[in-house]
Amino acid sequence: MNVTRRNVLLGTAALAAVGGAAVMVPMAMRPGTMAPSTSRARPVAGQADLPPEADVVIVGAGIMGVATAFFLAEKGLSVVVCEKGGIACEQSSRAYGQVTNYGLPQEVVELGQHSKSLWRAMNARIGRDTSYRDYGRVQAFQQDSEIEAAREWLAGAEAAAPDHAPIRARFVEGAELAEMLPGAQSDWKMGLYQDDDGGMEPALAAPAVAEAAIARGVAIVTDCAVRGYETEAGAISHVVTEKGAIRTGALVVAGGTWSRLLLGNAGIGFPVLPVYLSQQRIGAVDGPPACGAVGRVVWRKEVDGSYSNGPRFMTAPILRDSFALLPDFLPALPGMLMGDTPLDMALGADLTRSFRVERQWRLDEQTPFERARIMAPTQNDGTLDESLGWLREEFPVFNQARVIERWAGTVDVARDQLPVIGPIRAVQGLFVMGGFTFGLTQGLGAGELMADLVAGTAPAIGPNHFELERITGGKAGRSRPA
Ligand SMILES: Cc1cc2nc3c(=O)[nH]c(=O)nc-3n(C[C@H](O)[C@H](O)[C@H](O)COP(=O)(O)OP(=O)(O)OC[C@H]3O[C@@H](n4cnc5c(N)ncnc54)[C@H](O)[C@@H]3O)c2cc1C
Repeated sequence: MNVTRRNVLLGTAALAAVGGAAVMVPMAMRPGTMAPSTSRARPVAGQADLPPEADVVIVGAGIMGVATAFFLAEKGLSVVVCEKGGIACEQSSRAYGQVTNYGLPQEVVELGQHSKSLWRAMNARIGRDTSYRDYGRVQAFQQDSEIEAAREWLAGAEAAAPDHAPIRARFVEGAELAEMLPGAQSDWKMGLYQDDDGGMEPALAAPAVAEAAIARGVAIVTDCAVRGYETEAGAISHVVTEKGAIRTGALVVAGGTWSRLLLGNAGIGFPVLPVYLSQQRIGAVDGPPACGAVGRVVWRKEVDGSYSNGPRFMTAPILRDSFALLPDFLPALPGMLMGDTPLDMALGADLTRSFRVERQWRLDEQTPFERARIMAPTQNDGTLDESLGWLREEFPVFNQARVIERWAGTVDVARDQLPVIGPIRAVQGLFVMGGFTFGLTQGLGAGELMADLVAGTAPAIGPNHFELERITGGKAGRSRPA
């Protein structure tokens, strides 16, 4: 056969088509689609009526909103939290609840360690059980490269941790490691044990903090979507909700995966993208440790003896925003795809849905938030079956444990995988917190930091890593239209 230029081009096109199909078909078949859902949180009654004014208004009663409200109330400020659904109805009740900073960027270690110290003292401080327990956590390794990476992380984390909340971790091996992983089938070479890591029940933790905030005078208004804000002389003057307007000088946007949409209507860029994770709870067994990670599966024992577990695996849905933010995320994408927690792309119904969601509205119009009281992705049963299989292979005692419940949730991620906690400088009195991947662990620390920034008091930890400008190119929060 003659190899003509036309044949080469046709061959290349065919290969590209086959290659494209090989990539697109699995993406299109990947489960996980946003759908109306129910809260997993222990119900805590909010109030129905919107007060006419407050020192600070907060969007969202997830862990970030209620923790910020709690610390602001302790400073004596009047606070109203507006929540479109119920308290902790989205991300904050869907975590699997490990309390750890392991493997996270060094820039969040100070925040995470400080936050753990706040969680540890919280039950006594509020006279309620948040369900936080520091029962230790072991991460087991087989490969020398993993051990080397853990050593590197530990050295950096020890340097970054604050003096009052140092990292308490050590490497374990041999009989000591075997004792920490009773019944494990693999020959684990080394483990990193952190005795101040642990867990909390996502269904209980944020509700307990919300109750403590309410006890300190915070009004949490549920079924109350925030539509936007008004300004006077460049400063926040009113927050407009579906229940009317409230006069205030400060607005904290802690709306989880919705913050980008809310700020976008006001012309403010908040460059974060959502990823989906699936989790499950299985029955109680005796033996395996309370909290750990081996290979690509992580687990945590609940207070009733059952185990929450899930794969270390995330799915990024391809949405309208994925194209808008492609230039921001492109340099970070290879690291995200091949990082410690692998990331897959999904091309499905969420793409068309994302083009149908309104992005601009007037403040007297109904908004997307009122039509989506509680949303969550559907779970990926395939990865959950697979991770349960790994867990049972490693700890055969889990063969006796039946699946009790499965769910999925969304986390919002910035391109550098650090949270944003700070002011939006274009509007005086406007603040945002979001982009948390380990937000339950960091929740109290982040709430305390935000309260200090809003009140103008000295923070216990440095806020510099979390400024919005670092990911908006110094444009004071105003960037390209969403
Ligand atoms: C499956 C999964 C596993 C996880 N595992 C862990 C873990 O093991 N450890 C850990 O530390 N973290 C974990 N996380 C992360 C953690 O759950 C989140 O980082 C944290 O809950 C984020 O809290 P938030 O308050 O920012 O968001 P959310 O809890 O989502 O709260 C935002 C709230 O704002 C409301 N809202 C949005 N827009 C509006 C509006 N316009 N008006 C009024 N209300 C509005 C929403 O309804 C929502 O209730 C996990 C998350 C998921 C999904």
